[in-house]
Amino acid sequence: MITVPVDLGSRSYDVLVGAGVRHALSSVLPEGVSMVALVTQDAVAVDVDPGVDSRRFVLPSGEQAKTLANVETLCRGFASAGLARSDAVVAVGGGVVTDVAGFAAATYLRGIPYVNVPTTLLAQVDAAVGGKTGVNLPEGKNLVGAFWQPAAVLCDTEALAGLPAREWASGRGEMAKYAFLEERPGGGVPGEELLRLPLDEQVARCVAIKAGVVAGDEREGGRRMLLNYGHTLAHALEALAFEPGGGPDLRHGEAVAIGLVFAAELARRLGRIDAARVDLHRQVVGAFDLPTSMPAGCSAPELLTLMGRDKKARHDLTFVLDGPDGVQPVRGVPADEVLATLIAMGARER
Ligand code: NAD
Repeated sequence: MITVPVDLGSRSYDVLVGAGVRHALSSVLPEGVSMVALVTQDAVAVDVDPGVDSRRFVLPSGEQAKTLANVETLCRGFASAGLARSDAVVAVGGGVVTDVAGFAAATYLRGIPYVNVPTTLLAQVDAAVGGKTGVNLPEGKNLVGAFWQPAAVLCDTEALAGLPAREWASGRGEMAKYAFLEERPGGGVPGEELLRLPLDEQVARCVAIKAGVVAGDEREGGRRMLLNYGHTLAHALEALAFEPGGGPDLRHGEAVAIGLVFAAELARRLGRIDAARVDLHRQVVGAFDLPTSMPAGCSAPELLTLMGRDKKARHDLTFVLDGPDGVQPVRGVPADEVLATLIAMGARER
């Protein structure tokens, strides 16, 4: 078992990583918990034993389950079950479950403790760690939420055994992002060493990178934005699915993979990096066995509009971009440069 501390003063907690760590659940529950609300999904089928009285709550599957209505359903269920402020929520599932259950825990009785048992690679390396919880609105993704840190996170690699291939790919997209975030001058090809590690060490290493960033900027005032490397285009590609014409079939990490290559192409267009660095991005994303090119049929102007609506965009176009000093947030990127980059990558001009 590997322990990764998330250092946030009075809100600090440990992330335990390894095969079978879900069995440590009863030992990581805060003192005084006498009932647990277990929030999960039918497809998850991962057994946990909190060692105290528990009630099971099942969320529907998919991104469409991240609604305020489901938070209300959960909270009403918690109230009917008599869940008290000294009790806890345990989220067992992918990022959808940890986001929704975490937000319900953040707001029920003005906030009760919760523990995450992430069961997708993406949730283990990213969603379950860092305290961002929330749901979507018809107007956009993750528009309602709270920063609410878990009491502990149990990344049980055994839970990943039955994960579908596309969900593995999705998690690898975030791992490719971490490969660039941990890059050091003279450190070799990003991700090469990470890919050679056993699974538990891969997960722990990604969690440690995220923990380091979150510890320095819990509420995303600055450095935490770096975790969005590759995400501005990724969110726009995902948002296309909800537009009238529909969008490409991409899991989140697959969209991030394309977003990383796009961010490199944009950085080159802005004169921040050279062609060799762009090639390196393609090489690294390819090494994680992920797509590097723009899906067919995407409209550049439509993607630009969606990127402008991204909640991290503030009132101008902000991207996290590679450059001489590494990866940094860059504000006020000209729209015509973004459009030209999208079109050069194969997006439609209209
Ligand atoms: P997901 O939660 O929808 O899970 C993917 C699918 O895998 C679902 O159908 C789920 O039922 C199934 N599944 C989960 N565990 C399984 C298991 N062990 N075996 C078999 N099937 C299993 O998707 P995800 O990729 O885990 O998470 C995506 C969500 O995470 C998005 O809503 C995203 O916004 C959110 N997210 C949040 C943060 C954050 O910091 N809070 C960060 C990244 C992503």
